[in-house]
Amino acid sequence: MNDQILSLPKQNGAVKVSEEAKKSEEEFSFKCPSCKTGIIHIYKSIYNTTDGDSLLILKFECTSCNYSKNDIIPLETKMKSGISTLRVENEEDLKSKIYRSMTGKLEIPELELLVNPGPSAKFYYTNVEGILERFLTAVRILHRDLEEDDPQIEEVEEILKDLENAKIGKFPFTLKITDSQGGSYIIPIDKSKYTFEKMDPTKE
Ligand SMILES: [Zn+2]
Repeated sequence: MNDQILSLPKQNGAVKVSEEAKKSEEEFSFKCPSCKTGIIHIYKSIYNTTDGDSLLILKFECTSCNYSKNDIIPLETKMKSGISTLRVENEEDLKSKIYRSMTGKLEIPELELLVNPGPSAKFYYTNVEGILERFLTAVRILHRDLEEDDPQIEEVEEILKDLENAKIGKFPFTLKITDSQGGSYIIPIDKSKYTFEKMDPTKE
């Protein structure tokens, strides 16, 4: 559960996290932010993606309580422009990791959901479940603010239902990230459900 969402609020968030991680590693350990008595240990591993990039995966664990947190930092970004597509069909697929950069457009066509690129759009590392969670929150707010006789309400309720089913792996869908600058990632649990299509960076 703890590795689901790590949002990076600023444009330079990725750099910031990486610096912080390096700093804590140099200090070797620090006090647990949760129980305040335990010591946090840091475990590192490197994940090489199928297209030749590598990611640093950090795991933080407390010695006395059950606090733990995962963090993923891209070590090399080849900035390949393209369209990453992941077919999500079951609960396992929901654990696939997602990194959307500032220039990445993220969409789920079956649910008509879309996050447009732009400087105000948040960078984020999460997994598919984390993406659905964000959409659910947004759609719930939209639903709450609609009048009961609003013509949109039926459609919104339909999307809510599908989203809830998607979150438990009962509504198959496609998650697509179009990134004209490159830098967005999908790390699939099941590689057979992932495709990457290069595109010309001068277009779009
Ligand atoms: Zn602790």
